[in-house]
Amino acid sequence: MKVKVISILEDNYMYLLIEEQSKEAIAVDPAVPHRMLEIVKREGVTLTTILTTHHHWDHARGNEDLVKKIPGLRVYGGDDRIGGLTDKVTNEQELKFGAINVRCLSTPCHTSGHMCYFVWEDDCSDAPAVFTGDTLFVAGCGRFFEGTAEQMHHNLTKVLGTLPQDTKVFCGHEYTIKNLKFALKVEPENERVKEMLSWARERDDDDKPTVPSTLVEEFDYNPFLRLSEQSVQKFTGQTDPVQVLRVLRREKDRFSKPKDRPPPQAMLALQWGLLGPQGPAPS
Ligand SMILES: [Zn+2]
Repeated sequence: MKVKVISILEDNYMYLLIEEQSKEAIAVDPAVPHRMLEIVKREGVTLTTILTTHHHWDHARGNEDLVKKIPGLRVYGGDDRIGGLTDKVTNEQELKFGAINVRCLSTPCHTSGHMCYFVWEDDCSDAPAVFTGDTLFVAGCGRFFEGTAEQMHHNLTKVLGTLPQDTKVFCGHEYTIKNLKFALKVEPENERVKEMLSWARERDDDDKPTVPSTLVEEFDYNPFLRLSEQSVQKFTGQTDPVQVLRVLRREKDRFSKPKDRPPPQAMLALQWGLLGPQGPAPS
């Protein structure tokens, strides 16, 4: 099984999985359809399937266009809000495409219908792969837009955390440097975080992706998978794993916030009502 990592939009990834014998291909979150089609053509494969992790536009917006262009294309996902959906999947459902097997793993929290896809190939010694969308990132986890810390705890520890340790993690965004900066704030003494951060910066300088990581590596530096570590508990002031996770996510939201705020002048203008009730025009 070949996995092509395709960097799109500001920091998203879409993926193309190729069954090398049949030349059948599966796209994961193909949000830039024309790029996906170029790569399909270049690889000389037949795109039969889309796996969608969740309905957010930067993951699912390409589906309808691809369905129009490729008759018979199947679109799998776990949420009715996914554009072009042809096959709604449920937790633990298994799909087969030639020698490629896919197990759908329901991971509600970032969105209520979020699915991760665990993929392995028959008679192949390659490590399996998991496509984690916006649930698990390299060194981080997704925001809790439509779920609770309890749900994310279940997703990370029971669903993803129990997959084979050598599973390759292919996530939905390149957030690795930002995530590691936060991980270093949580665990300033963690040498693996420091090593990863300098490696991720080198990758960034070379314009190369940091995916895939492996699950076993994630346990070393991803604070969201290290809830029982003393250092992580100390940072959050909590010991119950769900509470640790809740505080960790809240702190990460705060950590990421400043750049999302309007500039100070716009804040002042808003305060004084200079920009009217709508605020600044969207740019
Ligand atoms: Zn999302």
